[in-house]
Amino acid sequence: MADKRDYYEVLGVKKDATEQEIKRAYRQLAKKYHPDMNPGDKDAEEKFKEASEAYAVLSDKEKRSQYDQFGHAAFDQTGGPSYNYSDFSDIFGDLFSSMGGFGGFSDFFGGSSRRRSPDAPMQGQDVQTRINISFRDAAFGCKKQVDLWVYDVCPTCHGSGAKPGTKPETCSVCSGSGRQRVQQQTMFGTMINERVCSNCGGTGKYIKDKCTGCGGTGRIKVKKTYEVSIPAGIDEGQSVRMSGKGEPGTNGGPNGDLYITVSVSPDETFSREGYDLYCIVPISFAQAALGDTLTIKTLDGQVQYDLAAGTQPGTRFRLRGKGIPYLRNPNQRGDLYVTVMVEVPRSMTNEQKQKLREFAVSMGDNPNGNGSGKTSFFKKMKDAFD
Ligand SMILES: [Zn+2]
Ligand SMILES: [Zn+2]
Repeated sequence: MADKRDYYEVLGVKKDATEQEIKRAYRQLAKKYHPDMNPGDKDAEEKFKEASEAYAVLSDKEKRSQYDQFGHAAFDQTGGPSYNYSDFSDIFGDLFSSMGGFGGFSDFFGGSSRRRSPDAPMQGQDVQTRINISFRDAAFGCKKQVDLWVYDVCPTCHGSGAKPGTKPETCSVCSGSGRQRVQQQTMFGTMINERVCSNCGGTGKYIKDKCTGCGGTGRIKVKKTYEVSIPAGIDEGQSVRMSGKGEPGTNGGPNGDLYITVSVSPDETFSREGYDLYCIVPISFAQAALGDTLTIKTLDGQVQYDLAAGTQPGTRFRLRGKGIPYLRNPNQRGDLYVTVMVEVPRSMTNEQKQKLREFAVSMGDNPNGNGSGKTSFFKKMKDAFD
């Protein structure tokens, strides 16, 4: 994962590439590295897979924006983005016809082919949902209940879409193939093209008496509740995948997956960047000047820190291992960066003021306290501009 190449780099396009540019770039690579064009060439096969994975993400608006924000980490949880090569059918369709067609495609991808018969098993759609978790739950992980409405097989017709007691009939237009052949005149001569059957929409079946439970679609929306384990270290916008909890597959195909994206509430003390935390601790002028033992709030409770005498405002120190646990290795943690802010008293008694003046004089300073410009600071400023 760590040495994974940037998807834009893989496709050789700019970060702001349009959908068309991405598609074009992928087509070219797919053509060049397709395993059927490079039999037995493992390197080409890897390149082809790499490009296909990049395209699967960058061609999907939602996945692309996740990738832009979080890079490969957006998919780390799931061991890489999930995609189905059948989604690329339009590209491969073009590719196949431009190359005169070649076989072995479905073998290479383990059964998902663009020339899928309507009876072939097909994976169900992936489902996305979002949950809110607290800053602390994101840091240390938690279990959450997720409720969502998702398509499931219609219990009335068990997915057939036909009224109980009846059966879908084979489509008379395409004889069940789901595809129609059409002749087309092109500049290269007559070409036979196949397209999805207009009578049955590619299912190869025709339902005369539709199931009243689902209106003939074979599926209905149902409410499901899952318990999801949110791993320690997860960050805003990252997702957890629950395999097989998406929409049901058809013809015995596997279910899609459920992606749960987290929104993390901000914390009032800490801000987070990657696995590191940042916070600001106010200290008094006396503490800064004389040094002190500070009590610092961390995610794991309070710790003591010995502040050196003469610490300057804005000084930042690091508490190692007090940051967020790493997503893939919770034994390792980021650091906590503490910035000290020196606070100036908002009001003082006359006695305190007098003592501070005496102190200032002892430091070679001569404040009059009325802001008339006689302090060394204003004098220095004046000198600098004269
Ligand atoms: Zn039904
Ligand atoms: Zn048909």
